[in-house]
Amino acid sequence: MKRVLFMGAMAAIALSSCNPQEELHTETDHTDFQWQVDRFADIKVLRYQIPSWDDLTPQQRIYAYHLTQAGLAGRDIMWDCNYRHNLEIRRALEAIISSDSVDKESAAYADFEVYAKRVFFANGIHHHYSNMKFAADFDQDWFLQTLSGLGIELSEEAQRAIFDPSFDAKKVNRADGVDLLLASAVNFYAPDITQAEAEAFYAAKEDADPARPVSHGLNSRLSRDENGEIYEEVFSARGRYASSIKEIMGHLAKAQAVAENEDQAKALGLLIEYYESGDLTKWDDYNIAWVSTTGGDVDYINGFVEVYNDPMGYRGSYETVVQVKDFDASARMAVVADNVQWFEDNSPIMEEHKKESVVGVSYKIVTVAGEAGDASPSTPIGVNLPNANWIRVEHGSKSVSLGNIEDAYHASAGKGMAEEFGFSTMHNERAEKYGELGSKMHTALHEVVGHASGKINPGVGTPKETLKNYSSTLEEARADLVALYFILDDKMQEIGLMENKEAGYAEFDNYISNGMMLQLRRILPGDDIEEDHMRNRQLVASWACERGKEENVIERKVIDGKTYFVINDYDKLRGYFGELLREIQRIKSEGDFEAGRMLVETYGVKVDQELHAEVLRRSEPLNLAPYSGFVNPEMEPVMEGDSIIDVKVTYPMDFLGQMLRYAKNYSFE
Ligand SMILES: [Zn+2]
Repeated sequence: MKRVLFMGAMAAIALSSCNPQEELHTETDHTDFQWQVDRFADIKVLRYQIPSWDDLTPQQRIYAYHLTQAGLAGRDIMWDCNYRHNLEIRRALEAIISSDSVDKESAAYADFEVYAKRVFFANGIHHHYSNMKFAADFDQDWFLQTLSGLGIELSEEAQRAIFDPSFDAKKVNRADGVDLLLASAVNFYAPDITQAEAEAFYAAKEDADPARPVSHGLNSRLSRDENGEIYEEVFSARGRYASSIKEIMGHLAKAQAVAENEDQAKALGLLIEYYESGDLTKWDDYNIAWVSTTGGDVDYINGFVEVYNDPMGYRGSYETVVQVKDFDASARMAVVADNVQWFEDNSPIMEEHKKESVVGVSYKIVTVAGEAGDASPSTPIGVNLPNANWIRVEHGSKSVSLGNIEDAYHASAGKGMAEEFGFSTMHNERAEKYGELGSKMHTALHEVVGHASGKINPGVGTPKETLKNYSSTLEEARADLVALYFILDDKMQEIGLMENKEAGYAEFDNYISNGMMLQLRRILPGDDIEEDHMRNRQLVASWACERGKEENVIERKVIDGKTYFVINDYDKLRGYFGELLREIQRIKSEGDFEAGRMLVETYGVKVDQELHAEVLRRSEPLNLAPYSGFVNPEMEPVMEGDSIIDVKVTYPMDFLGQMLRYAKNYSFE
């Protein structure tokens, strides 16, 4: 539950050398690099560079290569976990796209290709963000005839999955009052298992050490046997997805052999053991070793990690991110982690909810070298792991900001949205000058200080047990509020991260206008907000608007039929953010489900229909994609006989081409 996604729709940034935010930049050569490689539906596909690749030694490049290969080897797992018919459907799409006998110039093919690209981007037939199934806006007869011409038969149920809008309509459904499992199509549970059955199953689990619980359910599917009993089908070399997992293990072993140091090799050894047995205590052992491994220039995330795709928050999605440390940027930001105890001591939360000592938070700005599974093509920009609370308390956590991904977003962003929704020239100029710095500071504070802050009262269960389907939204709100509260603190200037408060003001403007308006671009008219980060942003922004109504702290202005939310008093607003932070921390610390539910349902879910229509109307002519993702650099080993002596990187220009190459090289299920 520890990731940040990019929402800098307002952050339209020109990179110039006189810009103070330049200080925080990775040394990226932006000249002549084509960022965008594809555009369809609500998506644009970008590229990113690995500027520090050439600074690594050949051995480090080989290490990164094997880690990247391990990631790609698990690609099919994510597709299958997302939905039980995804792999069958994907193979049918691939067959049509790669066939020479299909007429690619026809209108029917063009419609079909958009659908196929959407499916590839989402790792399945449900939207990666809204979780809604894609409409099959292409000719069904043409599709089925083309398939039969290729000798491919698609099962009845897979056909229904594509063409029947009401069938398995939503991947993850967290709506208030529904059976979370029956209403969700995600394949972490057999289709007929109910929420009550799963709750009973996990309530019966006992931990050898209750203070150090394993992450029950993290690496398994809950299935039903022939006697109707439910059981966990564990993901391991001996269980479900064994063939993919053995491939992953093979690459990890090769990585282990060229690791930069003993600690890395030891952690990889534990990860391999965990994949072999699926034993979750091994996963904890691995995480403790991984979080303690801070030396070396190359690091990675690998495993069944984030639980956003499980409506009940148990099961982790397979993901990998391979990273190269950005030394200069990391050194500049180390000051955030160095001061993490100061932030905790000076937080507006109640004294009894503060940590006496915040243990070992390490923070690095990294350059991504490759991503796979749930982290690709859509990617986070910041990650804080591990997720197990007791490991974070006892052993610390690692936070990373994905610097080159953020750079790619900013470099590829147009100014259109900022100009349309910015209230005045002053606001627009400030956003242009300081917006990127503000959003980077927000990411750093959210990850390093936010998620690491606060503690749960003795005897209160974990948030997924107490706050259930609201736990992710409330956790993201908590981390955002920590960031918003401190970004305007004098401390930020004292420790040299900001020269003045302008970046903080720009971030406040951005946050409110995003939370109240801009992010609505991402949903369809009439829909509620479903996604956790979106719920969190609207919750925070609309709660603050209401809180400051009497004193006109945030003013809703309508000029020439255009709505703006203008902040009149930044300090007061900061105070409100502190208040809400205190309350949400209380909810988490006490496990107050009812108060959490009320906050999210009152402020985070329902959409102002008129405002939504206005946002869509104003952004439509700009033709900007509300979602972005990335093709990955491709790595080619340089061979000498049978051994790899170095690795070369290229930056592909074709999204669909990369998807087909992945299918060819990494299909193991
Ligand atoms: Zn987060």
